[in-house]
Amino acid sequence: MSDSDNDKGLGTRLVGAGRRREWTGPVVNPPVWRASTHFYEDCADLKAGHPNEDGQFHYGTRGAPTQWALADALTELEPGAFGTMLYPSGLAALSHSLLAVLKHGDVLLMTDNAYDPSRALANTVLKNMGVETRFFDPLDLDGYAELFCERTKAVLLESPGSLTIEVCDIPALAEIARTNGAVSLIDNTWASSLGFPALEHGCDISITALTKHAGGHADVLMGSASAGEKLYRKLRISAQRLGTVVSPDDTALVLRGVRTMELRLQRTTESALVIAKWLQTRTEVSRVLCPMLPGAPGHDLWKRDFSGGCGLFSFTLANADAEARARLVDSLKLFDIGYSWGGYESLAIPFDPAKNRSASAWPPAEWGTGEHLGVRLAIGLEDPKDLIADLELGFAVMENS
Ligand SMILES: *Cc1c(COP(=O)(O)O)cnc(C)c1O
Repeated sequence: MSDSDNDKGLGTRLVGAGRRREWTGPVVNPPVWRASTHFYEDCADLKAGHPNEDGQFHYGTRGAPTQWALADALTELEPGAFGTMLYPSGLAALSHSLLAVLKHGDVLLMTDNAYDPSRALANTVLKNMGVETRFFDPLDLDGYAELFCERTKAVLLESPGSLTIEVCDIPALAEIARTNGAVSLIDNTWASSLGFPALEHGCDISITALTKHAGGHADVLMGSASAGEKLYRKLRISAQRLGTVVSPDDTALVLRGVRTMELRLQRTTESALVIAKWLQTRTEVSRVLCPMLPGAPGHDLWKRDFSGGCGLFSFTLANADAEARARLVDSLKLFDIGYSWGGYESLAIPFDPAKNRSASAWPPAEWGTGEHLGVRLAIGLEDPKDLIADLELGFAVMENS
């Protein structure tokens, strides 16, 4: 893609991304290249070796045109990226990226509202290899700035945060990391590069769980990390050393999802907003944690920095105990219970983030005492009026035990 293609509309870019003729051949989509061995012409060719570069046949662990097409597409969609690495899950993208930039003795700063498995990774694998992780409150810039020391080499950001959906000031957090000589990584799964061009906002490595919006159909796991040239090369060599590669069949599913991503994100964002507004009118609900909703926590920063939203948001219940919350969630017919999100189907899960916090309080002190039990919704492609009717019945079941 030439630079001028970046001026084209998002839909146009999503349709064209990664579809090089040399990879697709005479058909629309890049075929699924199932390949371990790549042939060499003769002994001289083998001896010369194929350059270990993207887009060059070498060996299956370096991918083939199917994987190259997806990586290329994601690079085109992430302004400022030189390249993109693919990983077998979103969590693998996070772990590989951290392993690529950290070594024994380093300090990692991690946002307190990180995706819980990121926290578990820090507290086990990274700890065992001698990396110390310090957690910070992403809404307290001064406290965060004070945590840096000589050994701080990387910062893991996430916005909005998992479960509690806080939006934080990523440009400011990334800038503080930069002035302290630390690499800033962001788990950009919620917005993806479509809603939040993370590298343009100062981050060094933009990580997404492609399992969510790009996959979009709850049938594939994959992750990506996009970065500028220097860090991309670091990610690439690290993945090669670790032997990490993604399957071409899975890649084809993700490539298919990429083409309709804008439509699905638009639709789920609109539906989420309609449902969030309705929840705001309900006496059973104490807070609606949806940054697209005017007046909700993080809305101003979301408006300033994001160009899109998605269907994932949370709310808290007023005066409901865990049994009442379970009655609500269990009674829903159109929302299934399960992890992950970003598929076409709606999901609901109860959440209790307090046990996963060490640097910030949940619920926030200013909310006062009382129950603030949370429910996270992932809004799918169903009609929002039906989802609202389902929730309305659920509230009735919750109240009439
Ligand atoms: C789901 C998710 C991941 C992990 O993705 P998997 O593909 O399920 O490993 C990482 N970060 C966030 C914010 C997620 O929601």
